[in-house]
Amino acid sequence: MASKPDSGTVLSSRRAVVVGGGLAGLAAAVRLSEGGYAPLLLERRPFLGGRAYSFVDRESGAEVDNGQHVFVGACTEYRDFLCRIGAWGNVHVPARLDAPVLRGGKVSRLRAGGLPGPLANLGVIARYGHLSLRGKLRLLYGMSRLRFAVRKAGGPLEYETFDSWLRRHGQDDDTIESFWNLITLPALNDDVREVSADMGAMLFQTALMGDPGKAAIGYPLVGLSSLAGSAAAEFVRSHGGEVRCRAGVDGIGLGGGPVEVRISGSETISAESCVAALMPSGLLAVLPEERRSDEFFSNASRIETAPIVGVHIWYDRWVMDETFMAVLDSPVQWVFNVTAMHGEADGGGQHIVISLSGAWKWKNMPKAELREVFEAEAATLFPAAASARATRFLVVKMLDATFRVVPGAARYRLPQRSPEPGLFLAGDWTDTGWPSTMEGAVRSGNRAADLAMEYLAGKG
Ligand SMILES: Cc1cc2nc3c(=O)[nH]c(=O)nc-3n(C[C@H](O)[C@H](O)[C@H](O)COP(=O)(O)OP(=O)(O)OC[C@H]3O[C@@H](n4cnc5c(N)ncnc54)[C@H](O)[C@@H]3O)c2cc1C
Repeated sequence: MASKPDSGTVLSSRRAVVVGGGLAGLAAAVRLSEGGYAPLLLERRPFLGGRAYSFVDRESGAEVDNGQHVFVGACTEYRDFLCRIGAWGNVHVPARLDAPVLRGGKVSRLRAGGLPGPLANLGVIARYGHLSLRGKLRLLYGMSRLRFAVRKAGGPLEYETFDSWLRRHGQDDDTIESFWNLITLPALNDDVREVSADMGAMLFQTALMGDPGKAAIGYPLVGLSSLAGSAAAEFVRSHGGEVRCRAGVDGIGLGGGPVEVRISGSETISAESCVAALMPSGLLAVLPEERRSDEFFSNASRIETAPIVGVHIWYDRWVMDETFMAVLDSPVQWVFNVTAMHGEADGGGQHIVISLSGAWKWKNMPKAELREVFEAEAATLFPAAASARATRFLVVKMLDATFRVVPGAARYRLPQRSPEPGLFLAGDWTDTGWPSTMEGAVRSGNRAADLAMEYLAGKG
């Protein structure tokens, strides 16, 4: 028998409930819909998308993302999810990697050539002008060692920093700053000195050491909420399911039977299966108090998070030609040309966003100071910005943007199958083998939904 939540009456019962309308919850709900289970999805906020959402900036009228999101070709389940909900037309994915990198006024590109397979990515190193010949040889050596690095759960790579591994394999400050950290910092939202060698190896083995299409950087052509939230909700509804926003769950009752899902200020639902697609803190908050500290669930409290700060500047004219660009020797890490990505004319003006990963240094800095730093920096990087007028300046700080993949953290990621019958877990931080990404979120949702359907099918 399920233990009853403190208050509320059981008014209805459902076969499948999903709590949390981020990408993990949306993916789970879509999968359950495809399986014919017509799920009920409950989201606390008025909008879907979780940590990948957009809002309309009242002053500029633009749809602004909570943070610039990109993905690589290797993100197969995220790409498949977009296709299934009919959103594929709203992203751009080039055939190969092509990322301009600016240093001291000179642009060199990380660009995969036309050769097949891994050879294409070797060309990336050969053409990269921000490393000397010696640096390139060093990098080639590091890449070849990393290609054969053996990753295994609980293995030594999980307990070493990526920086330490790289240095043990011939890498120096120059290759680390000009190449390894240029990719690691935005992809894992932490510096090479902080992340585990295992996640570093995962990143480069998955994206840069196989088919050249896997490293291609894709991006949305519309705001994040327009991209996935509405399309996924529409998909669920068209398959007989239900999506409710402003429906926060304030308790989940567990007791070996149906999962009791209590909606704040509303009904309690008896769910034969429930996918909890919440962040670790969100999951712990809805669990019965005695379960939060038990052997299984308490690990979730050990997952740490890292901030991302997005600095948006609207100029009265075009200042940046590339669609996006990485910058070395500058506080600007990666900068995106939102006007070009969203195909907006912007009356001759331009909206750019500077994306600051691992943003501990910036997260508490007041907006006026950030403006001073980054407008000056943009004027140095883009000559046209020096004479342009910034018509709008906006900062979006996401303090818990991603979970951290520091050494030893992998053991705290919970599996999608919980010890509670009928309760399944999703969320990018659950054990998918992926870092904190849209791909990880979708993978977790797919896996949790598959387990839920297996469970339901077993019950008949
Ligand atoms: C600024 C920023 C930039 C990023 N850049 C990238 C990128 O470039 N590429 C990439 O792949 N990833 C990126 N990410 C990471 C990516 O956004 C996340 O990995 C992904 O969105 C996580 O989805 P999720 O569903 O696991 O979690 P969440 O999105 O956190 O979803 C959890 C949902 O549960 C809801 N919720 C919480 N409590 C309750 C409750 N009690 N009842 C009901 N609902 C509840 C929340 O409101 C939320 O909607 C970025 C993230 C941020 C913040």
